[in-house]
Amino acid sequence: MSKFHTRCLTGMARCRSKLCMNKLGFILSIALLVPMTVLAEGRVNKQVDKTEKETLTQAHQQDEGKQGKPEAVALDAKRFEFVRRNMISTFYHELAHALIDIMDLPVLGQEEDAADVFSVVMVDRLFEEADAVAINSGAARGFEVDAIKMRSRGREWDWTDEHGPDMQRYYNIVCLTYGGAPERRADFAEEMRLPEDRAEICEAEFSMAKNSWGLIIKHIADAKTGKPISFSESARSTLQIRAAQVIETEVKRVNEKFKLPRRLRVTVKRCARGSNFYAFYSSGREKITFCTNYIDELYRDAPE
Ligand SMILES: [Zn+2]
Repeated sequence: MSKFHTRCLTGMARCRSKLCMNKLGFILSIALLVPMTVLAEGRVNKQVDKTEKETLTQAHQQDEGKQGKPEAVALDAKRFEFVRRNMISTFYHELAHALIDIMDLPVLGQEEDAADVFSVVMVDRLFEEADAVAINSGAARGFEVDAIKMRSRGREWDWTDEHGPDMQRYYNIVCLTYGGAPERRADFAEEMRLPEDRAEICEAEFSMAKNSWGLIIKHIADAKTGKPISFSESARSTLQIRAAQVIETEVKRVNEKFKLPRRLRVTVKRCARGSNFYAFYSSGREKITFCTNYIDELYRDAPE
């Protein structure tokens, strides 16, 4: 997950001017104008739990280009959980890009920040308390892993990147998650090293995010008609297949609760060799793609 891999690629069709203010007539982005202060990067937070191995040996073909009998290896349950959490978070991040495109939403700020905010709000809404915190925690850890990798390689952040710096995304996710229920997430804030001065405004940040995106979410939840999201996958290894099932579950979850005004496709597949992208939304094709190299890299980079 180096800086040369971005988590998404957005297309060209975007509402970028006030002329595009659409029929929903709301201001979305107040919640999206998250503070741009770059906070200090955190230390590696070694997880002390012993790695739990799945008792059932899985056939895991490490090299998806390899032909023949898959190599039999055990999937590490803790590493896969890191994959699951990041896949879910990234799914809702990409869904935000899709909604912005197909609903022609105004975005008065950085779209990448808006997508991160949407992901936290949706996870908080759709999952039980413990899992919601775990998923958002895993997503934040994913950015921390990226930051640590970059630092260990002596690389600096590319300030021309449309995404915010990894550790700012980490703290934004942590802050919003804590702000969703500060009365019961104090331990989470402490574990994730959320500074007190930032913590003081997290409840207000989450409230603004929930209210802003809430208008969109209510719109697609109340819709009487719409198009379901379709899903396809061409995963090869056991790891990839199981990760694809995570995404398929989220597609079903969204289809049960929401109706989108236009069709949307989601696929998990092997992307072109040398592809710089892990997951991206393709405007014009209305399609979210998860590259299998993203799954493999998440599993490989999962914190111990
Ligand atoms: Zn994005």
